[in-house]
Amino acid sequence: MNSSPPPMDADPSFVPRLDARQRAMLAEMGVKVWAPKPTPPADAIAQTTGSVAPDASPRAASPMAVPVPAPARAPLAAAPAPVREAVPRPAAAPAPVKPPVTAALGARPAGIDGMDWPALQSAVAGCEACGLCRSRKNTVFGVGDTQADWMVVGEAPGENEDLQGEPFVGVAGQLLDNMLRAIGRSRSGSGAQATYIANVLKCRPPANRNPLPEEVNQCEPYLARQVALVQPKIILAMGRFAVQALLQSSEPIGKLRGQVHRYQGVPVIVTYHPAYLLRTPADKAKAWADLCLAMETARSA
Ligand code: URA
Repeated sequence: MNSSPPPMDADPSFVPRLDARQRAMLAEMGVKVWAPKPTPPADAIAQTTGSVAPDASPRAASPMAVPVPAPARAPLAAAPAPVREAVPRPAAAPAPVKPPVTAALGARPAGIDGMDWPALQSAVAGCEACGLCRSRKNTVFGVGDTQADWMVVGEAPGENEDLQGEPFVGVAGQLLDNMLRAIGRSRSGSGAQATYIANVLKCRPPANRNPLPEEVNQCEPYLARQVALVQPKIILAMGRFAVQALLQSSEPIGKLRGQVHRYQGVPVIVTYHPAYLLRTPADKAKAWADLCLAMETARSA
């Protein structure tokens, strides 16, 4: 990044100075940049200071906004209710009791916490510690520079990731790539641009259902080892399941944002999952504030 944000005090509404490239990237993210009108004599300040605000206009909310159909109108005059004969109803059959969804658990390879990269990757590739191994096409280990300062932790592979064996390659991944680009990073970057991306689960849950707690527990040692090997300066935890795995917290994201948490001693910044941001574009401005907090935290780590 050629324009560094000024220091801030873990304020989630903090917004750094933006150059033209960052503004373009934020536009790609769908974040509108608001800058105050210059008021003399402070116009020099206004030119170099921007802030990102959620779009206040519901009409212009997002190119992805889905039009809401108008509610059907009630008929002007209600038709007279038909006269019904009283017919005794048969007793309702009891609702079938669904068995709880549980994962069939198997043995996890021993010694994960001492593995090097090749051993860890092949342990994941052959893992049968939960039932997801039966439906996966590929394991999804991680991507990026294994010496990166930044680590992004997502939830679980979806269909595209399962097919390609790489995290975040679907539409949510495109948004993640735009978010990273906005802060001068990428999955293929090195040095100051490097980022390592991994998920909590290495296998796709069928039909993209939520990860089960026992699946998260079985898979977590792989993520723990990835963090220990990368030794990032900052971890960006994206979404509920990343937060649950890293922070052992089921608090909502909105409550955990704006603070610096820790995992293995590494600062963790909590933010929204890109798939959520695609559904809720107004929260992209908060995600941008989270990225700014992560940048600042990494800088001082
Ligand atoms: N969502 C995630 O959390 N991870 C992926 O790899 C893809 C979508």
